[in-house]
Amino acid sequence: MQPSKIPILDLKPQYQALKSEIQAAIDRVLESGQFILGPDVTALEQELAAFLGVKFAIAVNSGTDALIISLRALGIGPGDEVITTPFSFFATAESITLVGAKPVFVDVCPATFNINPDLISAAVTSRTKAIMPVHLFGQPARMGEILEIAQAHDLKVIEDTAQAIGARYFGTCLDCQCLPQTKQQLQGKFVGSLGDLGAFSFFPTKNLGAYGDGGLITTNDPALAELAKMLRVHGSRQRYIHEMIGYNSRMDSIQAAILRVKLPHLQAWNEQRRQIAQTYNQKLADIPGIVTPKVTPGHVFHQYTVRILDNKRDQVIQHLAGLGISTMIYYPIPQDRLAVYGNQYPPLPVSDQLATEVLSLPLWPELAPEQIAQITQALGEAIQINS
Ligand SMILES: *Cc1c(COP(=O)(O)O)cnc(C)c1O
Repeated sequence: MQPSKIPILDLKPQYQALKSEIQAAIDRVLESGQFILGPDVTALEQELAAFLGVKFAIAVNSGTDALIISLRALGIGPGDEVITTPFSFFATAESITLVGAKPVFVDVCPATFNINPDLISAAVTSRTKAIMPVHLFGQPARMGEILEIAQAHDLKVIEDTAQAIGARYFGTCLDCQCLPQTKQQLQGKFVGSLGDLGAFSFFPTKNLGAYGDGGLITTNDPALAELAKMLRVHGSRQRYIHEMIGYNSRMDSIQAAILRVKLPHLQAWNEQRRQIAQTYNQKLADIPGIVTPKVTPGHVFHQYTVRILDNKRDQVIQHLAGLGISTMIYYPIPQDRLAVYGNQYPPLPVSDQLATEVLSLPLWPELAPEQIAQITQALGEAIQINS
């Protein structure tokens, strides 16, 4: 029998499991006639604030908007610099550029793909206003050290939590020379609740996905929450009283209603993702030339991403594709290398190297053990070709 094809992501099992509840939630919104913000959005904001352990949660139209509005709430604009990671989806740097500030890229740690705090202080200038770490692939960045550096230089911190809702910080360090973890009070907290602001995405493929675009801003600061709420609706607190140039970034009620059905399942789904990562790691352990990610406490595996060494990535992709197994490269071009930025940035060796090696394998909570076995066996075969 021909083994079935394996996509990179399959959202259908989750919908099948929750179909009646989701349809009832959508129907309720349709019957209510209220399609923008409204009771479902308010309830979602309250539920997410309680879940994440933050005082304020403001639902917006996308993760990108959450980043842009967070930057604007902090007053960041032309002439300012924001330190961030080169190794992320372009929305990270794009949001900084869109508000008129300059992204300053600091290289990453090879084992976590996240910004390397040891290199941040050297990148701080008199123009630096904030640090924007990304918890890439669901792995928390080293927030303890990032917050210490921010405090020392009087900088704000915006956490790009688009890929890491439900991930928790335990100060685990894998490959860098870490300072001893002094920030005991951060232990076990959800990422997105640690910096000045957290920006989340509910893009359908994220760990908590809507059926359209959606995003969230979190903060414990009432003044920032107020600003974010104003920026979400054309810079106004009161209808037709516009106090600043804002955005139209209100969340749809239907998306909020869907997310409210899904939120109670998030932690179980994240745990399934961790289990799958563990299984992948066990099955890939004996294959030479593959570096697997560590399953650290708190990691929620938005992606399961390995490094394929010795220039064998193309042959692996092709062999797997020939067997109907999809893979993806997140990210083939680091943000600092994108044509939109010309050649203004100096090379960042770790990020540049990772871009040639990373490969993300199929992962969704319902991925079956037989499918994992099929994928890992194919990977083993692919590495053997011509070696
Ligand atoms: C998805 C993503 C975003 C943007 O979120 P959208 O909801 O698609 O606008 C920002 N940063 C990272 C790291 C992401 O993965």
